[in-house]
Amino acid sequence: MSTWPIYPLRGGVHPAQNKTLSNQVPIQQAPLPKQLIVPLLQHLGSSTEALVSVGDHVLKGQLIADSSNRISAAVHAPSSGTVSFIGPQPYPHASGQLLDAIVIDTDGLDTWCELEPLADFTQATATELLDKVSQAGISGLGGAGFPTAIKLSPRAEQPITTLIINGTECEPYITADDTLMREKAAQLMLGIDIVVQMLQPKNVLIAIEDNKPESISAVRSALGSRDYQVVELPTIYPSGGERQLIQILMGQEVPANKLPAELGILCQNVGTIVAVHDAVIKGQPLISRITTLTGQALAKPMNVECLIGTPVADLLEFAGLQEAQLGRLIAGGPMMGFTLTSTAAPIIKTSNCILAATTAELPPPAPAMPCIRCGDCAEVCPASLLPQQLHFYALGEDHEQLQANNLFDCIECGACAYVCPSSIPLVQYYRVAKADIREQEQKLIKAEHAKERFEFRQERLRLEDERKEAERKARAERLAKSKAEQAKKAAQAEAAGGSAAVADDELKRLKIAASMASVALRKAQKQFDTHGTDELKAQIDQLSVAAAQAKAALDKASAATPAAKPVADDEIKRLKIAASMASVALRKAQKQLDEHGTDELKAQVEQLTANAAEAKQALDSAMTAAPKTAAPATADTPTKPEPSPAELALKKAKIDVAMKRAALRKAERSEADAETLTALQAELTQAEQGLAKLN
Ligand code: SF4
Ligand code: SF4
Repeated sequence: MSTWPIYPLRGGVHPAQNKTLSNQVPIQQAPLPKQLIVPLLQHLGSSTEALVSVGDHVLKGQLIADSSNRISAAVHAPSSGTVSFIGPQPYPHASGQLLDAIVIDTDGLDTWCELEPLADFTQATATELLDKVSQAGISGLGGAGFPTAIKLSPRAEQPITTLIINGTECEPYITADDTLMREKAAQLMLGIDIVVQMLQPKNVLIAIEDNKPESISAVRSALGSRDYQVVELPTIYPSGGERQLIQILMGQEVPANKLPAELGILCQNVGTIVAVHDAVIKGQPLISRITTLTGQALAKPMNVECLIGTPVADLLEFAGLQEAQLGRLIAGGPMMGFTLTSTAAPIIKTSNCILAATTAELPPPAPAMPCIRCGDCAEVCPASLLPQQLHFYALGEDHEQLQANNLFDCIECGACAYVCPSSIPLVQYYRVAKADIREQEQKLIKAEHAKERFEFRQERLRLEDERKEAERKARAERLAKSKAEQAKKAAQAEAAGGSAAVADDELKRLKIAASMASVALRKAQKQFDTHGTDELKAQIDQLSVAAAQAKAALDKASAATPAAKPVADDEIKRLKIAASMASVALRKAQKQLDEHGTDELKAQVEQLTANAAEAKQALDSAMTAAPKTAAPATADTPTKPEPSPAELALKKAKIDVAMKRAALRKAERSEADAETLTALQAELTQAEQGLAKLN
């Protein structure tokens, strides 16, 4: 007998146990299903992402999904076969929602991938052991499914002094842990040894309810010389809740906002510990578990060792489901479980029981009546809550009061609903309220993030504006300084030379100005030729004056410039090539404009016209500055004669016709009205007649 003192559980109930239904036969091996549905999320925390694709062949134990998020657990192929689908599949959840899963068509060979067991775990460091647990994708098998590697991670500032191995299994009907302790006590002991080596706790307590005498005996026999304490607990529901078990064993209440680890206590389910054993000693990932198949609608209730991903329907068939007898199908036990909406849903890492109950066994709940304030619910609540108050606030969706009354301390054990004379489904109200509050919190977090992003963007834009303004000022200052220096140099040159010699830069600027004025004049002339308005005429007059002035300024500056250095032959050659290329590009664009007549092409042609004029101007200047002794043009390099005015007029008329035709086509494509089309057609006809005359 254990000498460890225990404390009475606050509250609690004694529902009918019904455990003998399933624990009379040894654990059975479930047949290999044809298809395995392996959900990407089977634990508390972040979902994993598939690492395989449809069509891939996988081996048993192969890693098939993982997550970069720390709070997650890897997923492995439970058997060998081919991935046939990745996407939404039925999932064992109260909402009946679908969840992404990897579907594997098994090949019947059950071929393992290469495993890497640790030869001697006693020689391994805590980190090496933790890596093994993490790689095996173990999450708590007792119900909640928290990733085990995270729970076992050592905290330097808070060492674990007490390790509690939870074998209470207080929920009625379920006997998965009971049969596991009976049949795998040796593995359980080695698994505890591994965790002890990792955490070095002072005390190790193995808690088992006194309604499992065979398990207590098997575990005690397997103890050997170990100084672990097997603690028998009185059978009461829900003694197996983590915080309730700590209260029973340690007499300590874990505050609502703290974790047991912060008090130096760590709880692990017996099934989880055996999974740790398999991961370290055998190198096997978590790909199967023991699940209770029970209820009076089954011909052969039992515990099965089944692969994760096995469809519930396969297991029910194996246990001899008598469909006519089935009243309710529950995933989990009758107190904390939920109605399973589809038998296509698979077994996942947290599936400890499938209960196929008859109507006589689990009658439908009576219609809910108003609360009579009897207080029975508060009497049995193991978390010292006021269930009737929580129900009242949940009805009014008063989230503030729900949180003030510690809704999140509720472990959803269902003891309150079990005793309620008004048959109020209290736990359902709490689950909905919790989900609502979590959703609100998520929304608040999202809104906060959005606000932060907005403020960050505003700050970034402000800094950007400041930077641009500073750059603009610096540019203006540099320009002013440069102008002042140029003026100073010009004055100095004038004073020194008697006659003004204009800097090369100034000459260049004047050349560009003269070229641009000339291009602008030609463009305006072209528009005037097409449209012939008074404004265009006035514009041409102005541009003519401006072009003449620009040319005069250039001539004057050229005359004042000392004799230009003879331009090298190479430079002339380069300028000729540049002028030729500019001319070719212009002709090409003009051709495209003639064919398609888009606004972009028109703009492009204008730009290229300016470029070509500039290139020609540069070439002319270079030729002028070239030594007179330069070799004259030879027969090999004939000079192209300038086009006559008649040729120019003909070319212009052709362009005009092409543009008018393109404008008409464009209007037709955009389904312009008949009036516009008629006007454009008339313009085209006129242009064609003009061209015919010139021809
Ligand atoms: S379900 Fe919640 S409120 Fe009801 S008894 Fe259990 S812990 Fe208390
Ligand atoms: S047990 Fe039911 S009826 Fe009684 S106080 Fe609680 S909620 Fe109300």
